[in-house]
Amino acid sequence: MKLFAHQHWITLQVSNKKLRLCARCTGIVLGFGLLRLVIVLFASSFGLPAITGVILAFFFTLPSIIDWLTSKLQLRHTNNTVRMLTGLFEGGGIGLLSVTNLSTYLRILIIALIGISIIAIGNSKNIFQKTHFYKSDE
Ligand SMILES: [Zn+2]
Repeated sequence: MKLFAHQHWITLQVSNKKLRLCARCTGIVLGFGLLRLVIVLFASSFGLPAITGVILAFFFTLPSIIDWLTSKLQLRHTNNTVRMLTGLFEGGGIGLLSVTNLSTYLRILIIALIGISIIAIGNSKNIFQKTHFYKSDE
């Protein structure tokens, strides 16, 4: 079963079925879940001011952005361990954003804007190649 498998899945054996999960997405879900669990268990009244939450979320997400972008632009190779670890931080960052006093609408808007920007930058290589700004040795 292929679930959220981009091109770099990890395979989990669940009874007799093989479950393929994207390494980074698995990290994100685990990181988010762990952070929320820690907050629920140990600091249920924990909250962050919006600006602090946004800044922290950005820095927690940065390793994942750098890993994805540099591998997408073929500047370096990444692997599933790195994807999973950076995904854990990214999930934690989203978890931190979830305990700010921002409205749900603003949280979703911020995550969507960051996601769209990163995807646009990641796909910019195709544009560069078409316009010959990017020298490719493929
Ligand atoms: Zn993924």
